Amino acid sequence: MLEVRDIKYSYNNDYQALKGVSLKIEKGEMVALLGKNGAGKSTLFLHLNGIYEPDEGKVFIDGEELKYDKKSLLKFRQKVGIVFQNPDDQIFAPTVEEDVAFGPLNLGLSMEEVQDRVEEALDRVGMSGFEKTAPHHLSGGQKKRVAIAGILAMKPEIMVLDEPTAGLDPQGVTNLVKLLKELNDEGITIVISTHEVDLVPDYANRVFVLVGGELIAEGTPKDIFSRPDILESANLKIPIVTE
Ligand code: ADP
Ligand code: MG
Ligand code: MG
Repeated sequence: MLEVRDIKYSYNNDYQALKGVSLKIEKGEMVALLGKNGAGKSTLFLHLNGIYEPDEGKVFIDGEELKYDKKSLLKFRQKVGIVFQNPDDQIFAPTVEEDVAFGPLNLGLSMEEVQDRVEEALDRVGMSGFEKTAPHHLSGGQKKRVAIAGILAMKPEIMVLDEPTAGLDPQGVTNLVKLLKELNDEGITIVISTHEVDLVPDYANRVFVLVGGELIAEGTPKDIFSRPDILESANLKIPIVTE
């Protein structure tokens, strides 16, 4: 459903951050992209949302090649929503409700439809009652939920989240993973980048491992985490499996 094929990308025509990455994500999956700092996770995610255009290689959605004109990108981003690592990169509006309304307003929906979607999305992420709050006054975990609501209000098929658990306290991590698992159960395909391995076996049906801009492994969490050689190359620890 979402596929990248042999993507290469260099910053400033100089440092090659992606050296030919191919991966396919099927409808309904919840996958984790693992890699240490600097592996290229964020660069890859910016391609998954069409924000960066690869130097070489292609992105496909439902078998159709992504084009980079405004109209194609709008259509694509309706299906594939991205949640950035730092919510402050995503949240601009003066109030929570205006922020969540931004995407649906861009789709040209009626005010009533937008309002309904905003309320539904805020309710879904447990942020009802914060409509008039300045995002700036929220905690990190609450901002993350607002960013997720902004994507949900677009009624996405796929949500890609760049290090969504980074910076959250353990309870915040547990709650967020629970929400993402529920959204996946409700039919949204989910792609998470992370360097925190502990909860991965609990939520991911498939794991990709990125090292130095190259995918070095792909498999079920069971496959990947029983391979110390892979974990060592990727500089990852062996997860503590929680049930
Ligand atoms: P990750 O998200 O896995 O930490 P990134 O995709 O952010 O990795 O970075 C991959 C590589 O690209 C790193 O070596 C990083 O320093 C480099 N890089 C990232 N963003 C930029 C940028 N805007 N300009 C130059 N180099 C960058
Ligand atoms: Mg990153
Ligand atoms: Mg927003």
